[in-house]
Formats: sequence, structure tokens, C-alpha cells
Amino acid sequence: MTTSKFEPERFRSPAYLNVLDHTAATDKLFISAACMYCLKHEAEKGFPLEICGLLVGKSSIDGWHVNSVHPVANLNTDRSADRFELDPVGYQRIDRELRGSGNEIIGVYHSHPDCPAKPSPTDLNSAWEGFAYPIISVCAGAATDLLCWTVNASGDAFMAISIEETV
Ligand SMILES: [Zn+2]
Repeated sequence: MTTSKFEPERFRSPAYLNVLDHTAATDKLFISAACMYCLKHEAEKGFPLEICGLLVGKSSIDGWHVNSVHPVANLNTDRSADRFELDPVGYQRIDRELRGSGNEIIGVYHSHPDCPAKPSPTDLNSAWEGFAYPIISVCAGAATDLLCWTVNASGDAFMAISIEETV
């Protein structure tokens, strides 16, 4: 894991540290290099604004298998680095298109402009259990780090998920 070039003080505050559960998750995020590139590219393109979107694929016993990445509008237009609001219309459209395809929405990604790829308390408030949450850190316009998270069993913190690149 690389370290962020930018880490605002609040990321070391108790409120932020409390949303991290250091238990090792056994589930993994399986994602192709092409999809990883897409996440980083979207995050860089959107900088300095925060971008978000959906991961589509399949959840299974060993984790989340990503088949495609779908940018969705961020309705939060202020430049806060720890707030995003995924457009529900975009969500519903993709969800509808997936019906009968065997694929489903398995996660939500978003970027942290000039902030580390660690979840914030706000991220926890809006997170759903069972979803994968990749966060892309974009520092001075370049994607420097991508970490993936999921909500723990008690629903009170994020656990880090390891990422396995597929072909
Ligand atoms: Zn966030």
C-alpha cells in the first residue's frame, strides 16, 4: 500500500480512526487491469471534484468479481473530499438494465481528491452491508492509491479488502 501525499488532520482524529476495523477480511475484490484503469482514469478526470459510480459483477463465497465499471453522477456538487451522493436515477437505470443478465450491482466506488483512500465517517453512514467500496485517492490530479473496503459484520466500521487483479 502506498501512502497518500495528502492526509488532512481529520483522518487522524478519533472519529475517522473509529470507522476502521483492522480485522483481516478473507473476501477479495477480483478486478481486471482494464477496470482498475477505468476507476483511476475516472477519478483523475473528475479531479478536483469527487466522482462516484457502480461496480457490476457477481458476489460469491470468495468475494466480489467485477465485470464492469459504471460512472454515475455525483449529486453533491460542493468540493468536500468526504461526501458524495450517488444519483439514484443512475443507480436505478443500471439496476434495471442488469435484470436477467446474471450480473448485479456489487459495489460503489468514489474518489478522495487530495485525501487518502481511507473511508470517512460519512462514507460509513451511507454504506450498505455486502457491498464492496473501492476508494481512489487522487493527489494533485494523479491517482496515487486505490483501496477497497467493506462494512464489517456489526455494521460499525470498514474492513480493508485485498484486491486481486484478473485478466
Ligand atoms: Zn469517501
